[in-house]
Amino acid sequence: DGVRELLADRIHDVADYPRPGVMFKDITPLLADAEALCVLTDVLAGIAREHGATKIVGLEARGFILGAPTAVRAGVGFVPVRKAGKLPGATLSQAYDLEYGSARIEVHAEGLTEGDRVLVVDDVLATGGTAEAAVQLLRRTGAEVVGLAVLLELGFLEGRGRVERALAGAPLDALLAV
Ligand code: 5GP
Repeated sequence: DGVRELLADRIHDVADYPRPGVMFKDITPLLADAEALCVLTDVLAGIAREHGATKIVGLEARGFILGAPTAVRAGVGFVPVRKAGKLPGATLSQAYDLEYGSARIEVHAEGLTEGDRVLVVDDVLATGGTAEAAVQLLRRTGAEVVGLAVLLELGFLEGRGRVERALAGAPLDALLAV
């Protein structure tokens, strides 16, 4: 429909970034467009309300850009999941495998508590490794993960299966898919 077209038109393909052979989806034209940014934030906030979210969690770094305005719009707080070593307080930490080697993401232990209903927000679902690790990490806080919402799912990378297994019945909403 019109919303999808508005959003899709403002995501640009960049060939061979960050490595040869990769077609990167650049969302900065969408962010720079007032109408598209407002519509996207409204749709994400609608999903947050639908799921009864009490917190929005954004995944570093583009999940921060989309997550914070979504939280304001939905009337709930925002909690960042960051790459290792960036958060000053006591953290919970989750390791996950990358194509080469491994990575670690963290959340403040006191950022979420039992009774919180968390909607995780990110820009792009690729292999699903980041989102899977985030769901596993967040569950260890005692909070309930009520869903994952992404702007764009790269279907050919087949990340959905592993993320849905981690979500254990909570919905994965992708506004756009290629
Ligand atoms: P995954 O763990 O699913 O393979 O990678 C997801 C992470 O990498 C997300 O946080 C996302 O921001 C980033 N990412 C991977 N591919 C792309 C892309 O083509 N465009 C953008 N904007 N981000 C990407």
